[in-house]
This record gives sequence, C-alpha cells and structure tokens, in this order.
Amino acid sequence: MNARFDISTLEAIPLPALFVDADARVAGANERAIAIQPRARQDLPLVLVFRHPGLRTAVENCLQSKTSQQTVYHHSEGPQEYRFDVSCASVKDGDGYGALVCFRDVSEVQQLDQMRRDFIANVSHELRTPLTAILGFIETLQGPARDDPAAQARFLNIMSAEASRMNRLVGDLLSLSKVVEVSRMRPTSMVDIDGIIRTALRNLTPLAEDASSTLSYEAPTAGIEIPGDADQLMQVVTNLLENAIKYGGANTEIQISLTETDRDRGVRGPAVVLNVADNGPGIDQIHIPRLTERFYRIDSHRSREMGGTGLGLAIVKHIINRHRGRFSISSELGKGSEFRVVLPKS
Ligand code: ADP
Repeated sequence: MNARFDISTLEAIPLPALFVDADARVAGANERAIAIQPRARQDLPLVLVFRHPGLRTAVENCLQSKTSQQTVYHHSEGPQEYRFDVSCASVKDGDGYGALVCFRDVSEVQQLDQMRRDFIANVSHELRTPLTAILGFIETLQGPARDDPAAQARFLNIMSAEASRMNRLVGDLLSLSKVVEVSRMRPTSMVDIDGIIRTALRNLTPLAEDASSTLSYEAPTAGIEIPGDADQLMQVVTNLLENAIKYGGANTEIQISLTETDRDRGVRGPAVVLNVADNGPGIDQIHIPRLTERFYRIDSHRSREMGGTGLGLAIVKHIINRHRGRFSISSELGKGSEFRVVLPKS
C-alpha cells in the first residue's frame, strides 16, 4: 500500500497551498490558502470552494492527465484586486494521484510593470509635444518664413519656450530619480529649516511680484534645526511656493508659517510644521488624493502654459517620505488651498 500525501507538509510551503485528492475534494490547505479562501478549511469538493472556472479546469486536467498545469487566479478583497499565478502539480496519494496547488501573488509585480509602462508612455508624450512644435517651426523657418525676419523672431521665441519646457521636464525627471534613489537613506545632517524657507522666499519674490501676489512668512523666534537634506528641502519649499504663485492667479495672498508640535499623526516625536496657504481658486476634492501622482494635473493645458511638468508635487511627496515626514493637502473651491508638511525634529 502506498503512503497517503502528508497534509502537514502544506504548512512548510511558503505560499498559499492546498491539496486536492483524486475525488476532486480539497483535502487540506495551509493557513495562507485559508486566508485567501476560508472555505478551503473544510473538506469540500473543489467546485464548492472556488467559483473560478479557470482554476477548476486546471486542477481537473492535472488530476486526469497526471501532468502539471498552470493558470491564473483573480481574487478581490473590497477594492483590492489580487492576481495569483497558480501551479498544479500531480503528486502521489496512496494508490492514486492528487494535485498540489500553489498560489504565487504577482499583483505587485504586475502593478509595478503597469506603472513603468505608464511612466514611459507619459514621458514620451510630454517630450514629444514640444519636440513636434520645434520641428514644425524649423520647417517653417527653412521654408515659408525664410525671408520674414518678424516671423522668424516670433517663431524663435516660441521655440525657445518649448525647448525650456523640455529642459525643465528633464531636470524634474532627474530630480525625481535622484530622490527615489536615496529614498531609503535618511538624512543625518542638521539643517536650518527657517533659513531654507527665507532663501526660497527671497528667490521667489520677483516671480510673486510679477503675478502681483504677496508672500508673508510667520516664523518662530528661535532658529530650528532638523535632520534634513538642505537641497531637497529647498526644493519642497520652492515647488510649493511656485505652485501657489502659478495657480493662485493674480493678487493672491500666500501665507507661509513654520511652527513646532509635540506630536503629529504618522510622525515620530516632536516635529516642525510648514504650512503654505493661498487664497486662490482652490482644488476640487476629487483631485486631491491624486495630486502627488507623477504627471497628474487638474488642467493639463493650464499647467503646461504655466511651465508645469506635472512632477512638482510627486517630487515633494518623495522628499518628505525620505525625511519620514507627512504631507497633506486641504482645499475648498473658491477659497484657496493649504499644503502642510510635517517633518520630525530628530
Ligand atoms: P505642475 O508641474 O503641473 O505644477 P504639480 O505636481 O506641482 O505639477 O501640481 C499638480 C497639479 O496640482 C497642478 O497641475 C495644479 O493643477 C494643481 N495645483 C498645485 N498647487 C496648486 C495650488 N496652490 N492651487 C491650485 N492648484 C494647484
């Protein structure tokens, strides 16, 4: 008499795994498999445990042909979608054969793949638009506008603006990739956050004046030092101020404040809070959760016109995450927007 398949070995498999006997009953399942499908716990026919035709066919084929089978199993838990690569191996069980079914969660790999594809498609699209414009103008300059100095001057101005846009995009892409590269390395040197804000304010005063906007800053009396990367924090402040100036519209009042707090949700220990508030047009609630995604813009046309790349807030979020801080956005249409950055003091 041949030995039966030892159900207890299922627990040793570091994947969700179950054993289906020759009568197509789920004779055993490990805890990981029960977590995906609680019905696998009972000794039930496979058809009552999984309502997934692809999975049932693969197991039945494995039992009948005694050969290995592969399939894909989709599973959802609330809004979360999972994809598993499933392998069914034919294993000896007493005098007959059963199927050892293992599930490998590939949801994250698939998501990353999709993100990478989307990212490349977005970058190509963003670069192609100004490039097409530049190529078009070159053709015009070589042909119809060859002897028209006024048109030449106008086209060269547009070409220069388009080339600057490509330059900004490449600059932002490099910043983003640099931030992502060091995202696991927490900054160790101490930086003067108040000094950084003051420098950013000084740099952006001309831009604010051009937009007839005002920048006001309320700071604590004593200088505060926090562990940080000065260049990156400068970029956070600059991006937030630039956005407030760009999207606030003319005559916006932009209020910046730096305060201290003993505790904040999601940040360990005492922290500093940088707040950038404007009384511009505000942002509709439906956009807020997506604003820090790469290339997400509310109005692409407007953003491009303003010289935006759609990467500013994605860079801000990555830098704050690297500093183990927290970033939040609140806004009310018609009233303005508020961007809050919490950074730990140690
Ligand atoms: P962009 O390069 O387009 O400025 P960001 O990532 O910095 O990209 O911002 C994403 C989008 O968020 C912008 O396109 C804009 O629509 C919106 N936004 C950002 N800051 C503000 C603000 N202060 N007021 C209104 N809308 C804003």
